[in-house]
Amino acid sequence: MIRLENIEKVYRTDTVETLAINGINLHVQKGEFLSIMGPSGCGKSTLLNIMGLLDEPSRGQIKIDNQDISRYSDKQMANFRNEKLGFIFQSYHLINDLQVLDNVELPLLYRNSSSQSRRALATAALEKVGLSNRTKHFPTQLSGGQRQRVAIARAIVGQPQIILADEPTGNLDSAMGNEIMDILINLNKNEGTTIVMVTHDESMAQKTHRLVRLFDGSQVQ
Ligand code: ADP
Ligand code: ADP
Repeated sequence: MIRLENIEKVYRTDTVETLAINGINLHVQKGEFLSIMGPSGCGKSTLLNIMGLLDEPSRGQIKIDNQDISRYSDKQMANFRNEKLGFIFQSYHLINDLQVLDNVELPLLYRNSSSQSRRALATAALEKVGLSNRTKHFPTQLSGGQRQRVAIARAIVGQPQIILADEPTGNLDSAMGNEIMDILINLNKNEGTTIVMVTHDESMAQKTHRLVRLFDGSQVQ
């Protein structure tokens, strides 16, 4: 589903050059739930952002669903990203002055769907994460675990084939973290969604199919 070949990423400024990713080869299977671990600064977020087409590698090739992304224009890339990928972040990234339902509808605004069908899809996504009773709340009126569930609903509302999650349980206590993991595991099992998750938490990583460890931009396991 995601194929990375000889990926390198160098961040350059006037004074420093950082080799953030140093020759990664990785194949994420369709339907796989993969976790990525490693110490702070080892390149986890960079790798996830490259997989998510949010950041370009300095070298190497990415294929998603057998499409060679490197030939895409920015617009094609944005469309592809919107259609195929869903993102979840540690700090939720919800819009605080929009109600829950409107937050979840956001990714659908790029598509030519009617407001009725947007509403129906967002309502269904909120049902899947068990938040049907919070559609008119604002994010600030929710707990951290509930906010992350809204973020998951937003990530899945467009029915992406792939979910990329950057420390989705990082701001949550272990009970809420486990709830979030259960939702992701069910999504993977029941809908066949491919998931790549960065985590610091060994116990969360153990629940996934495969663990990749990074150190200084290289894969060590
Ligand atoms: P992790 O997610 O594992 O903590 P990152 O992918 O955020 O690691 O960062 C990997 C390395 O790249 C770090 O050494 C970091 O300092 C560097 N880095 C990340 N983003 C930038 C940037 N925008 N400019 C320069 N260096 C960066
Ligand atoms: P943190 O670990 O500091 O909370 P996040 O996990 O929220 O960071 O974000 C991880 C990466 O994704 C960052 O490099 C950030 O710039 C990027 N990012 C965050 N939100 C968005 C967004 N809505 N769209 C695109 N990129 C984002």
